[in-house]
Amino acid sequence: MPRSLISITRARELVLEATQALSAEEVAIDDALGRVLAEEVRAAGDVPPFPCSAMDGYAVVAGEAGRTLQIVGESRAGTPSSHRLTDGEAIRISTGAAIPPGATAVIPQENVALNGSDAIHTNTASPPGEHIRGAGEDMRADTVVLGAGTFLGPVALGAATAAGVGSVTATRRPRVAVLCTGDELRAPGEPLGPGEIHNSNAPMLTGLAQRAGAVVDPASRLPDDRDATTRGIGDALASSDVVIITGGVSVGPHDHVKPALDLLGVEEVFWSVALQPGKPTWFGVPSEGRPLVFGLPGNPVSAVVTFSLFVSPALAALQGAPSPEPPWATAVLGEDVARNPKRDQMVRVRLTEVDGVVRADLNRAQGSHILTSLLGADALAVIPMGEGELASGCAVTLHALAS
Ligand code: AMP
Ligand code: MG
Repeated sequence: MPRSLISITRARELVLEATQALSAEEVAIDDALGRVLAEEVRAAGDVPPFPCSAMDGYAVVAGEAGRTLQIVGESRAGTPSSHRLTDGEAIRISTGAAIPPGATAVIPQENVALNGSDAIHTNTASPPGEHIRGAGEDMRADTVVLGAGTFLGPVALGAATAAGVGSVTATRRPRVAVLCTGDELRAPGEPLGPGEIHNSNAPMLTGLAQRAGAVVDPASRLPDDRDATTRGIGDALASSDVVIITGGVSVGPHDHVKPALDLLGVEEVFWSVALQPGKPTWFGVPSEGRPLVFGLPGNPVSAVVTFSLFVSPALAALQGAPSPEPPWATAVLGEDVARNPKRDQMVRVRLTEVDGVVRADLNRAQGSHILTSLLGADALAVIPMGEGELASGCAVTLHALAS
């Protein structure tokens, strides 16, 4: 009896059910780019830490236009003036410099006329508080600035630094092994013998895992041999949080991945998803619950599609982050697409927005060996299984395409 295929949604649920966030560690801000916060960041103090000027000008006591004020000092960024200002006085002040005691407004320098070298004449009124940035206007002391699960991009690191912290508590990066099976595979640039091809999955999956926050061991190539496959996978199991194997996961006489995983005690969670491309995807976990093991189909497009749908969310969850989202949730199909009666198709699409409508157009031919269909694609679009065609103009759900 043919084995029943599980749905993409169920397969994703099963992956996430088996995935727990990794432990957390202290990471200096300078090393934290690309990490995910395990604990929230709170402001150590008010930001700005003190009331300061929004303009280059003069700190004054608030008042009407037409006053003549004596210049009695200067407050520069980093060098405040300690003089207590009284009515009739002004202190030269630069943007970001502390408001001197007694001052209640700042008058911009373009609104005054110099009266000799030590006095100014005010051409405009100075209402109380004008051009003064209050302490804590940006961040209040002890309030949450970045929540747990935040991806630390450059701006988040800037905000954490402004908040006064020197290090953050981030989830450990997942350690990933990439194993490519196939006697036919050759390294980049190597001349090809008869029947050989280049191992394009190795740089793709390594790069995709790195971009998803993982530390990736140099990819290994495994020959189509039972013992070598078992040894290679066994080594990777011992040192990884995630093992990604490509190829050799079907049931041909030279497909050794499933028997090797069985021998090594990695328990199958699912094999065969109602997905095109990517049907023979295998996922399992040893009884200790670690590492997560993915057997992805060898065809490069299938490998990238199944990485996007199953591995990418797992790498995010290991780091305590939400699954990656596509640029839009849905789009309108730009052309008729033949359906697959038994499997949902994940077509690679380019997205364009015209008058507020997002349109999805197939990105070149869609065979699972057409690697160029991934070049310049913006997302995956779901063509639900069924008879006939899904017509141009139908709404389609989008999924993030790892890139
Ligand atoms: P398999 O899943 O091992 O049956 O492989 C399916 C197809 O993908 C075959 O045409 C393989 O030659 C090709 N393939 C397998 N592994 C890779 C790889 N690492 N890079 C590029 N193509 C591959
Ligand atoms: Mg193979």
